[in-house]
Amino acid sequence: MAQDKLRLIPLGGLGEFGMNCMALRWQDDIVVIDAGLMFPEEELLGVDIVVPDISYLTENRDKVRAIVLTHGHEDHIGGLPWILSELNVPVYGTEFTLALAEGKLDEHRLLDDAELIEITPGARVTIGPFTILPVRVTHSLVDCVALAIQTPVGMVVHTGDFKIDLSSPDGRPFDLHAFAELGKQGVLCLLQDSTNVDRRGYTPSERAVRPRLDEIFSQAKKKLFFSCFSSSIHRIRIAMELAHDHGRKVAVVGRSLDNSTEIAQDLGYLELPAGLLINPGQIREMPDHKVMVMISGTQGEPMSALSRAAVNNHKHAKIDAGDTVVLSSRVIPGNEKAIYRMIDHLERRDARVIHDDGTQGLIHVSGHGSQEELRLMINLLRPKFFVPVHGDYRHLKRHAELAAGMELVEKVMLLEDGDVLELTRESAEKNGKVTVGRVCIDSGGTSTDVVEDLVIKDRRHLSEDGIVLPVIAINKRTGRVENAPEIVMRGMAIAEEGLIAGARQVVERTLEVSSAEEKADYGVIKEKIRNDLKRYIQKNTSRRPLIMPVILEI
Ligand SMILES: [Zn+2]
Ligand SMILES: [Zn+2]
Repeated sequence: MAQDKLRLIPLGGLGEFGMNCMALRWQDDIVVIDAGLMFPEEELLGVDIVVPDISYLTENRDKVRAIVLTHGHEDHIGGLPWILSELNVPVYGTEFTLALAEGKLDEHRLLDDAELIEITPGARVTIGPFTILPVRVTHSLVDCVALAIQTPVGMVVHTGDFKIDLSSPDGRPFDLHAFAELGKQGVLCLLQDSTNVDRRGYTPSERAVRPRLDEIFSQAKKKLFFSCFSSSIHRIRIAMELAHDHGRKVAVVGRSLDNSTEIAQDLGYLELPAGLLINPGQIREMPDHKVMVMISGTQGEPMSALSRAAVNNHKHAKIDAGDTVVLSSRVIPGNEKAIYRMIDHLERRDARVIHDDGTQGLIHVSGHGSQEELRLMINLLRPKFFVPVHGDYRHLKRHAELAAGMELVEKVMLLEDGDVLELTRESAEKNGKVTVGRVCIDSGGTSTDVVEDLVIKDRRHLSEDGIVLPVIAINKRTGRVENAPEIVMRGMAIAEEGLIAGARQVVERTLEVSSAEEKADYGVIKEKIRNDLKRYIQKNTSRRPLIMPVILEI
């Protein structure tokens, strides 16, 4: 009686960090939890984002009723434009989450056709056979919820990303009572965030960074640059409050920070004293000790405001000797090289750089719960079945062991993307697999911009749109560009002489307008060349070849 089983099908996020997406199916109704993206690893150079393969959803398009979002981080909403352009279904989310999603859909001109439905913690919504209760959780972002989903076979709770923060800076703490209540009602299956399963104890509150930041702010003698993730609304709020306390005005530099700060202000998460914010253009008019620059780019992203300021190539953000630069964030694995390269540039400008290397005191806290919080949640809910979600395989495995070790859960299921878990009131069994995978997208982010899955379909893509290799010879000792750049094009049917000559000029111009420091930073210069060439080639051929700059050190 396969029809009487609830099916849980992870399409992304179980076995990797990012592109979280989970389908829940009862007979002919499917609800999707989260629609995330993943940022590409280095081996996928030339691709902007990675999203889950949603063949399972498009093959069952008449059954998909809705996408329900837990919170507004990119790894949960970043794939929305791509999924909605394939499959236009209603999207449910909290007010703040939808505000972030709206901006994203607007960018891709999908907003007019999108149906966005607001949910609030504590208020049930019914979608097909599912009744969903959003429950307030705390995280590094605001307005985050877990989802308690009443299904025909029992209640499934998806935690979303969470930690148990009882003194959240926005005054909206983790809702322990609601979870205790769910536990009393009985939970069939718990899907829980595995991110910090390796950490003992409890994760500190978002508020815990305040004392050390306060100290740093009082020691800063000249300009203060503060960088954190643009979605870290609590952190932004604390930094701005401290700036105000220390008599500094605040300039926000960087599009993503600007955007999230504005949304946070609109929705009441950031109440700033009048006159605190100044325009980036006003930075130079202010005495150094009277200004804080809130700047984006904690991960050393080559085109970010902070990376550009670090090589002295930002119009408004000038970093001088004696300035303080605070990176209030973690180093995301894979970004080490780029971050340390940026820090080297900052050190070369004689700025005082404070980043989270373990010696600087508490300047960053994680948004995900540690072992005791995971145990606490299992204890509150006492689920019959348990499934770890959100993590690499090793995190899922550790988390499964942690849950099994508590001897409260009847059965722990270790799932990976594509596995189908069938649940009844009494049983949980894996049964079969669906198609899953990664789809690489070259900016834009809708299905028309799909570069195709590089692993499977790269040949087709290359034969249609081709590949462009700008080759630049840089003298390692002097940092000077030697010889004119070479442009190698393959698989572009219309790769004529004129196009190659034009492309060469574009690269030459990019090199001309770049500073010596930028040229010495291959990550930065490659990204600039890639962007400029992409624009040129799209304009002249309306193609999207794979562009992979090659730097030859001579
Ligand atoms: Zn998150
Ligand atoms: Zn996440």
